[in-house]
Amino acid sequence: MNKRGQAATSSGAAPPVDGAGHAATPFDDLGVAVSRREPLAHHTWLGLGGEAKFFCEPVDVEALARVVRRCREQGIPVKVIGGGSNVLVSADGFTGMVVRLSAPAFCGIDVAAPSVRAGAGAKLVHVVSAAVQAGLSGLETLVDVPGTVGGALVGNAGGKGGDIGELVADVTVMLADGTVETRDVGRLAFEARWSNLDDCIVLACRLDLDAEPAHLLTKRMQKQWIVGRSEQPSGTRSVAMMFKDPLGMTAESLVVQAGARDLRVGGAAVYGPHANYVVAGPQCTSQDVRTLVEQVRTRVRDALGIDLTPQIEVW
Ligand SMILES: Cc1cc2nc3c(=O)[nH]c(=O)nc-3n(C[C@H](O)[C@H](O)[C@H](O)COP(=O)(O)OP(=O)(O)OC[C@H]3O[C@@H](n4cnc5c(N)ncnc54)[C@H](O)[C@@H]3O)c2cc1C
Repeated sequence: MNKRGQAATSSGAAPPVDGAGHAATPFDDLGVAVSRREPLAHHTWLGLGGEAKFFCEPVDVEALARVVRRCREQGIPVKVIGGGSNVLVSADGFTGMVVRLSAPAFCGIDVAAPSVRAGAGAKLVHVVSAAVQAGLSGLETLVDVPGTVGGALVGNAGGKGGDIGELVADVTVMLADGTVETRDVGRLAFEARWSNLDDCIVLACRLDLDAEPAHLLTKRMQKQWIVGRSEQPSGTRSVAMMFKDPLGMTAESLVVQAGARDLRVGGAAVYGPHANYVVAGPQCTSQDVRTLVEQVRTRVRDALGIDLTPQIEVW
């Protein structure tokens, strides 16, 4: 067992330790705190799944670049976790480096009307409130979307009132070799719950908004918050959205029409009142959720001839 009470590596061999008894990692000379065997369940809404082989929360862009470069040199895959509201981690976890941009250097929100610049690690809801307080409109309909700015950009989060991609002026990203570049709208593509930001780590973005009196925006934001929350499962955070809405339809209505509202697999169940969500109960496993989502998809395909695209991303 190591200092955190965890067993040795899955190969059975204990990892090498440094002079202080800490497990050594390929990152020890970088001046960045990297942990081993981080339980990813702690970082996702569903609270399921295995461990990340390596995990870090770099303090700034330079530290992140050092980690990313080392991963490239050593052939270690890298993933970023944002708010973890759209990720289902498998029981095997992830045998690479998971990075979380939680340090203040990645979470800044700067309002310079009519734009807002936001770090990828900032919570989307905080950016929405900052814009509304500054009398800038466009973001208020996203107030009920959980997660971070980075997650929202990568998946082009949105709803009936529009998507975040429509507001983006530019996005600053880090590439696999640690270099940083800013992509303007000409190099960005946003479609329904999709963007072309799948080859990089998103660091920050600039959103172009419109001026509108703050008191009107506040009312609109509050209304959206109430409506949005009433359309989400209440009383638990162990939830995930199952499918993207097909054009002109809602995934929820299709799940209901297909008679899949009452499906359950092990500890995973479709959330009856809002049937595009899966809820993970106490004994739920990642596989339960995966199987349930597949069963619902099959039921909709068989009953209605529509192939739903999963929203939740499996790691
Ligand atoms: C209750 C509930 C309600 C929801 N409502 C909506 C809704 O109304 N509209 C909607 O669009 N979605 C909705 N979702 C889905 C989800 O909240 C969104 O997709 C959200 O934008 C994900 O953000 P996140 O920070 O949690 O991303 P995560 O779940 O952490 O990650 C999602 C993906 O983005 C990547 N990623 C995250 N940050 C970065 C980064 N900085 N650089 C590179 N890649 C990154 C991750 O690697 C992963 O591939 C809902 C989910 C739940 C559970």
